[in-house]
Amino acid sequence: MLNSIVAEMKITQIRVPFPSEYGSGRGTNAYLLEGEVKILVDSGIDSEENRRFIRKTLEKLGAWDLDTILLTHGHLDHFSLGTYLQRETGAALMVHEADSEMLADYSSHYSRLFEETYEHAVEGGFDPSLLGEARIKLTTAASILSRPAVYETFTEISLAGGAVRTIRLPGHTDGSVGVVAGEGVFCGDAAIEGSTAVRDLKEEFNSLEKLKVFNRVYPGHERSPLARADIEALEAHFVSRLDEVLRVTKGGATLKDVVISLYRGTDLDQASYRMILPINQVIAYLRYLEAEGHVEKRGRRWYSFRERLSSPVA
Ligand SMILES: [Zn+2]
Ligand SMILES: [Zn+2]
Repeated sequence: MLNSIVAEMKITQIRVPFPSEYGSGRGTNAYLLEGEVKILVDSGIDSEENRRFIRKTLEKLGAWDLDTILLTHGHLDHFSLGTYLQRETGAALMVHEADSEMLADYSSHYSRLFEETYEHAVEGGFDPSLLGEARIKLTTAASILSRPAVYETFTEISLAGGAVRTIRLPGHTDGSVGVVAGEGVFCGDAAIEGSTAVRDLKEEFNSLEKLKVFNRVYPGHERSPLARADIEALEAHFVSRLDEVLRVTKGGATLKDVVISLYRGTDLDQASYRMILPINQVIAYLRYLEAEGHVEKRGRRWYSFRERLSSPVA
């Protein structure tokens, strides 16, 4: 846990582990902000062990009487434990309206997203039966882990007499926001050290630009807080990935060719999130490059017109 005071708000970082069945040690960073009101920014994945963990942690901090659970975005690993907290404490669970369908019915939301992925992936050379298997696994997991939440939506919000407010940070999801308190911002998955999953890279670049003015950026996973140099490193990472896509597609390449080239060492023949995430990420890269006029799709193959980008934002 990390304690600091920002603009009269006391900040406590709570690292909520991923439930053990998820294997990985990478958990969610939730943050308790205490001033006039008690706000929890994000929560974690709902599980019996995480319910015990978050209850014990908040009680120890004297913060079980939460006022608000403010979500940076509508992903399961940020909101689902919050639905438990909402029921138990009566705190308001708040999400940007653009991400609200995820809280209403995560598995339908996921199904719709998967529809797009499936179409591109099959056309791009991936095995339809493997994709179908991944879809069943992931939508089943989504329905087990989330139940419809009682929540409120916002487009912009100001809490604690203006000490806490939100800014839009789309790119990771459409409804991603940053929660600003003093010189710090809680950015969810808009920035994570090293890399983050993107749906819209152009918006993501704009959001990273916005994050640069903050002295401390508190991300939803991994090391926290991040500094401006970390945000710049993340931008550079995306630019180098885009350059790689341009190189691979120089003489024409399918979506699968690009995914294999960018994700060497990842087991892409397993029906799991490990296979879907790289596919979605490469689709986002190709869409960005296509919109910027750097690649074109002819039939099933992508072709690039240049070998590297000089700068990420035109
Ligand atoms: Zn996320
Ligand atoms: Zn996350």
